[in-house]
Amino acid sequence: MGKSTLFNRLVGKRLALVDDQPGVTRDLREGEARLGDLRFTVIDTAGLEDATDDSLQGRMRRLTERAVDMADICLFVIDARTGVTPIDEVFAEILRKRSEHVILAANKAEGAAADAGVIEAYGLGLGEPIRLSAEHGEGLNDLYSQLMPLADGYAERARQDAPETDVTLTEEEAEAGAPDDPHKPTEARPLQVAVVGRPNAGKSTLINKILGEERLLTGPEAGITRDAISLKMNWDGVPMRVFDTAGMRKKAKVQEKLEKLSVSDGLRAVKFAEVVVVLLDAAIPFEQQDLRIADLAEREGRAVVVAVNKWDIEDEKQEKLRALKEAFERLLPQLRGAPLVTVSAKTGRGLDRLHAAIVKAHDVWNRRVSTAQLNRWLTGMLEQHPPPAPSGRRIKLRYMTQAKTRPPGFVVMCSNTEKMPESYTRYLVNGLREDFDMPGTPIRLHMRSQS
Ligand code: GDP
Repeated sequence: MGKSTLFNRLVGKRLALVDDQPGVTRDLREGEARLGDLRFTVIDTAGLEDATDDSLQGRMRRLTERAVDMADICLFVIDARTGVTPIDEVFAEILRKRSEHVILAANKAEGAAADAGVIEAYGLGLGEPIRLSAEHGEGLNDLYSQLMPLADGYAERARQDAPETDVTLTEEEAEAGAPDDPHKPTEARPLQVAVVGRPNAGKSTLINKILGEERLLTGPEAGITRDAISLKMNWDGVPMRVFDTAGMRKKAKVQEKLEKLSVSDGLRAVKFAEVVVVLLDAAIPFEQQDLRIADLAEREGRAVVVAVNKWDIEDEKQEKLRALKEAFERLLPQLRGAPLVTVSAKTGRGLDRLHAAIVKAHDVWNRRVSTAQLNRWLTGMLEQHPPPAPSGRRIKLRYMTQAKTRPPGFVVMCSNTEKMPESYTRYLVNGLREDFDMPGTPIRLHMRSQS
């Protein structure tokens, strides 16, 4: 399961799918595929069976090589949950030698459990892996973005006659209008924001205030479209799509139980978002539900901004703020460095700071630090505070690179990864956050063994 699911999703010219799933298909399967406005032919290779039978394995290999030779672009799919297998390494080698364009995808990449596998995939030497979930239809935007630049040469653009898309999208994607066209000028690509929080935290009030102020600026209804789950708006010159859990709840209240809905609401909102605004009520901040959703956002790798609402009714503002910051650090250490802003959805005070925090968090979430810069930095960090030497042998950190963005993920090549104490990893993560000014974003740091 995985490759065939993807094949079925895409079914398109000269894109070979290669993976090591125990396959049902033993021969090459071809199909016309469409992804957004791209049309192409997909050749699906058989999975390399877990058969020990040499003749079968040899046949699989030949079929795969044939498909690779026939294809213009190879999509290499690994299972992010399993991580890189020895067979993956074999395929990667065939691809590095025989294929001009390889797109690497880590499938089943939904959720944080897949992170290690995704980062491992960098080690295949085939570039940055796309996080895919064929089953959930996630990552197709990224696949599109990688295919797009190659498309002029190979695939046929079918913008005019293509009706919408044939790719089956998840409900959220369909509603959000994915896949986004990367050809659109970047400033037109909305920043995806979710406002989450307990009932009565003020989510509706906040969103309406933002919309209201925009309306004053742009005239009634101008530039604002509301669909089932999101609002598209231009907030102070930045196009945003805001996932509106409050609106959803009100609509669905009649049919569903509130608690049940709010959990799945929050989850959907977090999955949708690039930046998650956790809206707290100043009178009852950091309730269990707030903590759970903030933690979820961090685990899902979203940028987080904490906004404390109803600040207009607080008297001892200074003192309260100090207490809030202290509670934040204590209760959500995993979100260290995330911005905390105080707002009043009612009066509109603080919304400019909220806006700035969202834009900054998004920027940091997308940030890429050069390998040269990172290694200069790593040298300094190692000097300042050398890694431990368990049983007399010092752990060596050889070099590091940024493996991904959204959120930033780093790989450090080192000896003896299993002996590396958590505290040293934390030292490096905190250092990265401070020295490269990356507040409000989860930072992933993966130690990779290299003896
Ligand atoms: P939601 O359930 O999170 O969407 O919360 P609502 O937006 O419906 O707000 C819940 C209640 O809090 C309403 O009575 C609002 O008027 C009130 N409220 C929201 N924001 C503020 C604020 O900034 N200050 C004050 N004083 N009240 C607010």
